[in-house]
Amino acid sequence: MTDSRESPGTGLGAPLVVLEDVNKHFGDLHVLKDINLTVHEGEVVVVIGPSGSGKSTLCRTINRLESYESGTITIHGDELPSEGKALAKLRADVGMVFQSFNLFSHKTILENVTLGPIKVRRKKAAEAKQRAMELLKRVGVDHQAEKYPAQLSGGQQQRVAIARSLAMDPTVMLFDEPTSALDPEMINEVLDVMTSLAKSGMTMIVVTHEMGFARKAADRVVFMSDGAIVEENTPEEFFTNPQSDRAKDFLGKLL
Ligand code: ADP
Ligand code: MG
Repeated sequence: MTDSRESPGTGLGAPLVVLEDVNKHFGDLHVLKDINLTVHEGEVVVVIGPSGSGKSTLCRTINRLESYESGTITIHGDELPSEGKALAKLRADVGMVFQSFNLFSHKTILENVTLGPIKVRRKKAAEAKQRAMELLKRVGVDHQAEKYPAQLSGGQQQRVAIARSLAMDPTVMLFDEPTSALDPEMINEVLDVMTSLAKSGMTMIVVTHEMGFARKAADRVVFMSDGAIVEENTPEEFFTNPQSDRAKDFLGKLL
C-alpha cells in the first residue's frame, strides 16, 4: 500500500500515514468523502478549511477515536486496529494534541508527562522522569514540573500537553487547533514549540487557522471543504495561487 508519489515538500521520507478512499458518515451526514492523503516521514501537513468541513473528524479517524465505513488507513503499512492492545498501541504511537489541553488536573505537571510512559510503555519511573524533565525543558516549562495544571497559564498547559504526547515517542503527531483556546499573547509560545518540533523532523498533521505557522512550517497545505480534500499544495502555491473557488473564498475571508 505504498505510494511512490513525491510530495511537493522537500527532504521527505517514505509514506507513513496513508488514507485511501476513506468515507465516514454521522447518520445522514457524509462527513469524510473519499479522502486520499499520504503523509510522509518527516512531513508537516497543515489542514485548513471552514468550520464543519471535517478536519477534526479526519484527525480523530486517524487516531481511531472515530470509526470509518469504507477505505483504508495505514500507518507504516499496517492497517489501523479497531480494538484491544493493538488499538492502545496505536493511540500511543499517534500522539494527539487537542484544543483543550486535557491534562489530569489532580496530577502534577511531571506526573502528567510520566504517566503514559510508565503505564503504557512500561518504562521505569526514574527513566520516565528523566525523559519527562528533558521534554519539559524542551517546551520551556521544566521549572513548573511540581505544579498542578491549574497553576499554569493556558500556553504553558498546552506546551505540557505537547511534552506529554512526545513522551510516548510517537510515530506521528496530530494537532487539532492547538492554539484556538488560547489568549492571543500565548499563541506564539505554542506555535514556536510546534515549529521547532517540525524542524526536528517529526511527522505532523496540524489543523490550524494560524496561516503564519502554515507558511513557515508546512511542507504541504491540505484544504478541506464539506468533507472532501478540495486542494493540496505547497504553502507558497496555495496561499498565492489557490485553484478552487472554495479555497479562494476561504482565504478571502481571512484577510
Ligand atoms: P471541523 O473540525 O472542520 O470544524 P468536524 O470534523 O468537527 O469539522 O465536523 C464535521 C461535521 O460533522 C460537522 O457538520 C459536525 O457538526 C459533524 N459532526 C462532528 N462530530 C459529530 C458527531 N459526533 N456526531 C454527529 N455529527 C458530528
Ligand atoms: Mg474542528
